[in-house]
Amino acid sequence: MPPRLHVLSVASEIFPIVKTGGLADVAGALPKALAAEDVSVRTLVPGYPAVLAALGPAAATALSVADLFGGAGRVLAGNVAGLDLYALDAPHLFARQGNIYTGPDGADWPDNAFRFAALAKIGARIAAGAIAGYRPDAVHAHDWQAALVPAYLRYAGGRRPVCVLTVHNLAFQGVFPPTLLGSLGLPPEAYSLDGLEYYGRISYLKAGLQFADRITTVSPTYAAEIVTPESGMGLDGVLRRRAAVLSGILNGIDEEVWNPATDSSLAAAFDAERLASRAANALALRVRLGLENDARAMLVGIVSRLTWQKGLDLLLAALPELLACGLQFALLGAGDAALEAGFREAARRYPSRAACLIGYDESLAHLIQAGADALLVPSRFEPCGLTQLCALRYGAVPVVARVGGLADTVIDANEMALAAEVATGIQFAPPSREALEAALGRANALFRVPAVWKRLQLNGMRSDVSWRRPARRYAQLYRDALATRPGNG
Ligand code: ADP
Repeated sequence: MPPRLHVLSVASEIFPIVKTGGLADVAGALPKALAAEDVSVRTLVPGYPAVLAALGPAAATALSVADLFGGAGRVLAGNVAGLDLYALDAPHLFARQGNIYTGPDGADWPDNAFRFAALAKIGARIAAGAIAGYRPDAVHAHDWQAALVPAYLRYAGGRRPVCVLTVHNLAFQGVFPPTLLGSLGLPPEAYSLDGLEYYGRISYLKAGLQFADRITTVSPTYAAEIVTPESGMGLDGVLRRRAAVLSGILNGIDEEVWNPATDSSLAAAFDAERLASRAANALALRVRLGLENDARAMLVGIVSRLTWQKGLDLLLAALPELLACGLQFALLGAGDAALEAGFREAARRYPSRAACLIGYDESLAHLIQAGADALLVPSRFEPCGLTQLCALRYGAVPVVARVGGLADTVIDANEMALAAEVATGIQFAPPSREALEAALGRANALFRVPAVWKRLQLNGMRSDVSWRRPARRYAQLYRDALATRPGNG
């Protein structure tokens, strides 16, 4: 048995306390899965009001910081929902209601550069041993919000743990004016091609990519895509230079949170042996959303942020034709104002065939997965994607664009895969309106053959979407990084 490892994870959101997307799911689920690999994880998160409330008044102070970008801060320690947490309580940075990244006007909080530099700075200090009795072997930073951790450690010098950076979405890079550099507590030489400099500005993500010992992203296909100019979002050159330490590890989903046999959000529990019980969830979904109770129609679910990345403008454009083919739609999502308005208008025009719920609703997301026949994910790019994994587990057949993690997790129902009885869904390319229409047409044709459709559902429900395999790979990655770190024999 290899020795027990201690890992400090640094993340800007964590399920079940605060979540805006898949990053929170990963930050919340991976520590539990790593425990089975003899890796013990503590997670540093910002002390947003929801985090402090979850920790409760009894949380112990593990570290005090006199001045953290214009105010005092402290690190509280506690356990919430089985997660060992450190919360950076710095009211001047995090005591705000509403969205964790954006203010009431929908724009980024103007001091986000400092809010997440503070998270990284304290993460680096804890990683270097600032809390008595705690010296992690590795620090695992997630996305740009934590990506300065390796930079702070590098410039601080001295003994440091190995640093792993996971890119959950290359589109978010934490780019700020170069004039901030001095106030971040980083030396002037950090503003260079080998450091944070990024087209005349500074990029937190680039800093992480430069200085991390290992870089991971959340699927093998996305790892291959982001080193190309087409998908590298300006960082492909940096990523190519670091290709030797870049790898893709698929996300899993939390099988306790996403378990159709025990899910309290459902109208009826089901599993692969009781697939017929899904019908009660389809009915409950149609009733809840005011859709016509037309069980012969293929009901297509969507659970998504509404942004350009997710390709839902393609669905909006194709909607009249798709409805004319007899499909029904149940969309849950929030995001861009124009997309929200478009889907609201569609729901108004076709109330019995297309329901569009604008907002965030964890419980409805579960019911959609349990009641929809198919789940549509038409993303233009998708680092991993979690909703198609939930769909696989819940017997909703995923219809996905062939990009990133969607390509890696869904087996297309082409003739060969159907014959071999391994297909789990439908893939389409390119992400265009025509291809999307054709894919849903293909799905609808398969839906009309119940035995084939059931095979797709069962194949999906039996595929491994758990965290077991990914956790094993992360554990191996930490151990490899430690074994091969410079200066290690
Ligand atoms: P991303 O992180 O890009 O938003 P993912 O597919 O990786 O996309 O993760 C999205 C997560 O957020 C999933 O767990 C999904 O169920 C959830 N989600 C997205 N939008 C909503 C919503 N409007 N209501 C409830 N859950 C949502």
